[in-house]
Amino acid sequence: MSRRAPVPLVALVAVAALVAACSSDADGDSAPSPAPSTSTATTPEPTSERTSEPTSEPTEPGGPDLDLALSETVEDSVYPEIGDPGVDALHYDLDLTWDPESDTLTGHEILTFRSTADAEQFQLDFSDTLDVTSVAIDGTELDHEQRGKDLVVTHPVATDERYVVEIRYQGTPEPVDAPTTRGDFSTTGFTIDDEHQAWTMQEPYGAFTWYAVNDQPADKALYDFTLQVPTPWTGVANGEQVGDEDLEGVHRTRFHLAEPASSYLVTMAFGDYDKTEDTGPGGLPITYWTPAGDGVPSILRGSPDALAWLEERLGPYPFDTAGILVVDSESGMETQTMITISPDVSDADVLHEYAHHWYGDQVTPSDWRDVWMNEGMATYLQFLWQAEQVGVPIDDYLDDVAGSEARTRAENGPPGDFDPGEFAAPNVYLSGAFLWHALRLRVGEEPFWKAVRGWPLSQDNQNADRDTLLAYLEEQTGEDLGAFWDAWLLGDTTPPLS
Ligand SMILES: [Zn+2]
Repeated sequence: MSRRAPVPLVALVAVAALVAACSSDADGDSAPSPAPSTSTATTPEPTSERTSEPTSEPTEPGGPDLDLALSETVEDSVYPEIGDPGVDALHYDLDLTWDPESDTLTGHEILTFRSTADAEQFQLDFSDTLDVTSVAIDGTELDHEQRGKDLVVTHPVATDERYVVEIRYQGTPEPVDAPTTRGDFSTTGFTIDDEHQAWTMQEPYGAFTWYAVNDQPADKALYDFTLQVPTPWTGVANGEQVGDEDLEGVHRTRFHLAEPASSYLVTMAFGDYDKTEDTGPGGLPITYWTPAGDGVPSILRGSPDALAWLEERLGPYPFDTAGILVVDSESGMETQTMITISPDVSDADVLHEYAHHWYGDQVTPSDWRDVWMNEGMATYLQFLWQAEQVGVPIDDYLDDVAGSEARTRAENGPPGDFDPGEFAAPNVYLSGAFLWHALRLRVGEEPFWKAVRGWPLSQDNQNADRDTLLAYLEEQTGEDLGAFWDAWLLGDTTPPLS
């Protein structure tokens, strides 16, 4: 996630050219600024052709390989009230219709899940602002109850058995309070703008405001979307667009997400959009969805260069499609294969969200306590890119934000033990970025970049936590990093960089 409001926080003495930037940063008051717009980015050629292949096929015939979406669900340590480790969602087939005249969402959801336990009932996260009109398995209507944000369905389930549940619902979705004190968002989930267009952002949770979901990062699933809205508006979601038809005043679009995603990485919007195609490294298809008639902002057009820069450092982009969906937000989200952003973000924000496709999307934390694993690396890469833009060494660049890092660590806690009420504060961005730089100084260039590049690939489409990452880094570098890890993730004060 990134944010748009630039707030200079430190006196950027040595790097006077830096302008406040921030994306990711979390808090304007702690982030360094973006590069001046006049600077030119180096845009090296990608080092390799894309090698990723679709890992699941569209649903017909036979359906996707649901084993791709098997997850080890857990009770989240930061937000244990959200999600249920008893459910391992495998595939969401969401057929959604938006009526902007009445602000009504009508949903027909087919969820395939694996039960991880024996029980007499199962439950999903689902907002009670929406009325569930029916829940069925194999055509049999089931008793169900909406208890707050839980949809509880009476049906026996057995460990490792799979179930296909069909849910019909309708209503006017409302976003929910976000557990944050940030200034650029206070709610998450389904949001309706002044023109009755709809969009979603949902980190660390909030997907449950518009579909029934196991709304925790540890549960990745595959997705298919069928979206209807009156013409000429369009529904947009993650993945490859596989359908586009006009049906007597109704515009129906279909999207297929071929690799599993956590629910916070799902996006969906209904609005008056123009679609523009572009091409990234190795022929990667890129799609921009922008407000009709506004044209494509130049920051979006920087996508191929941003991806090429990232591929040089991280290896091939891990998905088959990329894109950016512009919505009426103040922030940006690394929603999988289709970034969701405010129209006012910077080019550094765009690079930050693409960086998350390796760190956050390809490998995703299994618990929100490790959101630093996403934000730290995305911010470090963003800083490297910004330093390059203005022509200063990264050490000088970081010197200028070191005071902010120390301050957020003191005010918001260490990045590995943040206050649940301050999700995505500056600590997980800045302190996480400094952790990566400290590791680079400690282990040296080649081992560092080999590990940075290897980690997401080693966990392709999986979830992982800090312990698994530490073990990987120790194996790759041959160093005992336990004390280093604890000092950077849990220390009240900033450890020495080297
Ligand atoms: Zn981010």
